[in-house]
Amino acid sequence: MSGTFPEHGRPWSELAAEMAALKRDDLDWRRGRHAAYVWHASDDVEHVAQQAYTLFMTENGLGAPRAFPSLRRMEGDVVTMLRELLHGDAQVCGQMTSGGTESIFVATHAAREWARRRRPEVAVPEIVASWSAHPAIDKAAHYLGMRVVRVPWRADFRADVGAMAAAVTPRTVMLYGSAPAYSLGLIDPIADLGLLAQERDVWLHVDACVGGVLAPFVRDLGYPVPAFDFAVPGVASISADLHKSGYAAKGASAVLFRDAEHQACSRYAFDDWPTGLYSTLTMAGTRPGGAIAAAWAVMHFLGAEGYRGIARTVMATRQRLADGLARIGHGLHVWSDPELYAVAYGGDAVDILAVADALAARGWWPGRVREPRGIHLMITPVHAPVIDEYVDDLAAAVSEARAAGAAALGAGRAGGMRGAASAPRYN
Ligand SMILES: *Cc1c(COP(=O)(O)O)cnc(C)c1O
Repeated sequence: MSGTFPEHGRPWSELAAEMAALKRDDLDWRRGRHAAYVWHASDDVEHVAQQAYTLFMTENGLGAPRAFPSLRRMEGDVVTMLRELLHGDAQVCGQMTSGGTESIFVATHAAREWARRRRPEVAVPEIVASWSAHPAIDKAAHYLGMRVVRVPWRADFRADVGAMAAAVTPRTVMLYGSAPAYSLGLIDPIADLGLLAQERDVWLHVDACVGGVLAPFVRDLGYPVPAFDFAVPGVASISADLHKSGYAAKGASAVLFRDAEHQACSRYAFDDWPTGLYSTLTMAGTRPGGAIAAAWAVMHFLGAEGYRGIARTVMATRQRLADGLARIGHGLHVWSDPELYAVAYGGDAVDILAVADALAARGWWPGRVREPRGIHLMITPVHAPVIDEYVDDLAAAVSEARAAGAAALGAGRAGGMRGAASAPRYN
């Protein structure tokens, strides 16, 4: 054999060294340089996740019900713990998936099937969402032969429920709310969406991917977090990522349903092939046992106390960022009033995307938001020890950007977002 496929195997020690070296140019998240992608609570939590993952790395969630009662048990526990956090009664049920995208896909598929049984005449079922919704819903709709109708948001960048109501048609099968939305970290008015969903008899999905696990603990600390979960009548399903604010290993999210009847619509079953019945509640077939085990272990390792500690740290860090912005001045501020630890900041007097470039030159990896222009940050515990350094660098970046040009602020960037070096992108 020639080319890159090796003829002879190599010792692990050599590979481990090579792989460690490969990380050299990666995002330096251990020093909090990142704005997204990585959720690291502490080395202890990472160790627990790693050990638990390894313990079940070879087991397969596809066979969980019969072959791996261990995984069935842990997945059941994880769902039950989330159900309690999200104010579900005993009817609420759910399944673990590989991530937010799959959870949203599974919920959307269920909503489509739910509607199909009641309104089979709808050829292309529609989903009404605010402009701030995560693209995972569009991706799901694309795969599922559905259509997303995005509605302009309110002045405070939250979902405009009146406008969403006006966008509901006989083809609408799902309303979609975020708690919070990715870009600005704002929780949509879920209670109003719940009323609308009941009034129009459509499925309401709450995308709590980024907030679902930790938001209840932020609320415990006394921060005002509005009801966004099963406490709201009309909510049919919720997605919550364990590999984000659950601080579990990657490949772990959950989708919860109001009751077994809603969940049943997420099942795919087929039996016209030699092996007989194939039936799953997820898009994935084979599912990593490690991701289930790591989520279970991290939730038990941290407990409510541990998650409250994380919530306290990230909310205090958010405050230090906000104070830093106020000190820097020039009208810099967090956009709107995010409830949690995901924020974006900017200001009309500063070319914030030029500031992002200057921050990047200083070794940070700023998230970028296009509208309103801003720098995005998902605050995690690793950001706490570096937030002052971040704010200092930000102050320098702002001076630099201001010196570099009032010129860029006006005409330059307005029409040219797409081609600009700092044009925001998600990945
Ligand atoms: C991250 C995220 C998703 C998608 O989750 P993945 O785990 O990346 O698939 C969906 N919605 C929101 C609000 C998110 O933050």
